Amino acid sequence: MSIDSLPQRVQPIARPHIGSVTLAVIAALYLAAFANRTFVERAYVYFDNRLAMAAFALGLICLFAVCSIALSVEYVMKPILVTAVISAAAGSWFMDQFGTIIDVDMLRNAVQTTPSEAGHLITPAFIAHMIAFGILPACLICWVRIDHRPFLAKVKWNLMVIVPLVLIALACGVSSARSIASVTRLHRDLMLTLNPFVPIGNAIAFVMQSRQDSVIVAQPLGTDARVAAPVLSGKPRVLVIVVGETARAENFSLGGYARDTNPELARQDITYFSDTASCGTATAVSVPCMFSNLTRRGYSHRAGLANENLLDVLGHAGINTKWWDNNTGSKGVADRTAYRSFSDANDPRYCRDNECLDDGMVAELDTWLSDVDQDSVLVLHQMGSHGPAYYQRYPRAFARFTPECKTGEIGTCDQSRVVNTYDNTILYTDHIIASVIDALKAHQNKIAPGLIYMSDHGESLGEFGLYLHGAPYIVAPSQQTHVPFVLWQGNEMKTMVDGGCLSKRAGEPASHDNLFHTALGIMAVSSSAYRPELDVLSSCRSAPDMTAGASS
Ligand SMILES: [Zn+2]
Repeated sequence: MSIDSLPQRVQPIARPHIGSVTLAVIAALYLAAFANRTFVERAYVYFDNRLAMAAFALGLICLFAVCSIALSVEYVMKPILVTAVISAAAGSWFMDQFGTIIDVDMLRNAVQTTPSEAGHLITPAFIAHMIAFGILPACLICWVRIDHRPFLAKVKWNLMVIVPLVLIALACGVSSARSIASVTRLHRDLMLTLNPFVPIGNAIAFVMQSRQDSVIVAQPLGTDARVAAPVLSGKPRVLVIVVGETARAENFSLGGYARDTNPELARQDITYFSDTASCGTATAVSVPCMFSNLTRRGYSHRAGLANENLLDVLGHAGINTKWWDNNTGSKGVADRTAYRSFSDANDPRYCRDNECLDDGMVAELDTWLSDVDQDSVLVLHQMGSHGPAYYQRYPRAFARFTPECKTGEIGTCDQSRVVNTYDNTILYTDHIIASVIDALKAHQNKIAPGLIYMSDHGESLGEFGLYLHGAPYIVAPSQQTHVPFVLWQGNEMKTMVDGGCLSKRAGEPASHDNLFHTALGIMAVSSSAYRPELDVLSSCRSAPDMTAGASS
């Protein structure tokens, strides 16, 4: 064997060297150019003055580079750049596809969701996007060898680049200050889409807040609560509160939507509050807020945790409370209440992969009502219209509006298909609420029933380029904050309320602020926590024994 025929050792490809400042600038340009499509599109729409827009863009690119260079320290630079690139890829996907703004509430909602719900967002297109714009650039950053100067030389060299960049950014800002101030003040969503600064900053804030929140203990509320008067007929009062999911008022025919999405409720003797505002735009905000007495103005995640809620006050009054959940949990509301999960039970008649049709809860209602022997409040937390896989929220019998969008990648469907599919979810929710009312009616011989239905928040279906929900409240479109609110009164309740007065009240503004006090009023609970001005029925009640409140 000659020496030439011996196997040659394969030489690895030499890892290229790159200067730390060069890599920092390349990374900054990459992030600015490839992770900020939504920001650029919105800036293009919001700025009338193109010169000011160009100055704004140049100033921001300089600031991207300044931050990147300032962090170009040995051992620190690679982890930071990899985190930035991967966060930017994930952030840009949700911003560009759904118009999502990644704030603290959105992150909390994401953390509290179930794996099956989150799974609908992990599509092949998302994975391809993450590989192309996150994993591959991150691998490149890991692969190259970064040349770092000695410390003092690095400080000097970095400052020689940073100072001119800061001066250019300042010049850009000052030259167009009036336009930039006007646009950012008028369109607060713009700066919230700056990627990856905003998502990373909010993720840090979320982690810090979560650590502080974990030690909060709920303080007692309304411990003086008592049932002011029994129903004259002696029957137990039973209130079912249906917490809707992602139903928007705009698509309820009860509120004037052209399609007949509420055929079953239209045949029931219900009251529809046509101008109702949600507390938040995401489940993790709205659900605890609507059960708290704090009102939207006074509510914060921390204040919600630090105070007991409606179910606790009802409990103090000796009322039996239960929470049935077919969603992602009560978000802390039922921490001190009997809780039953229908999605965890995964009943094969209604469920697939821990996602269940709301009929599963209705099927159990008759048995529960048969056993009720005291004043009771039952909460049914629906799966409702939760996206993006709207087509999985209803049985085929409710696929009335076609063609549907039979994928979780709703951005790939025509908007008309998305709306068809969403409307079918509303049609099914209409059936669910009407079925609960029918069950309550069937037991009226031994209970005095009532029902409240309120959706937690609405949904965007492509309007203004937005999908899903969770927009910061201050910039959220009405589709995400205008929610349906339905009241049904059984015989006893109805005799206590002036129908004409109630019809008039139903046309006036209402909100999640009203749930706490209206429910206490319906259950005739007297408590210092009760505020009659927030009970939508208080001004229409005629019978004194249903008048709640500390003064009663
Ligand atoms: Zn929700």
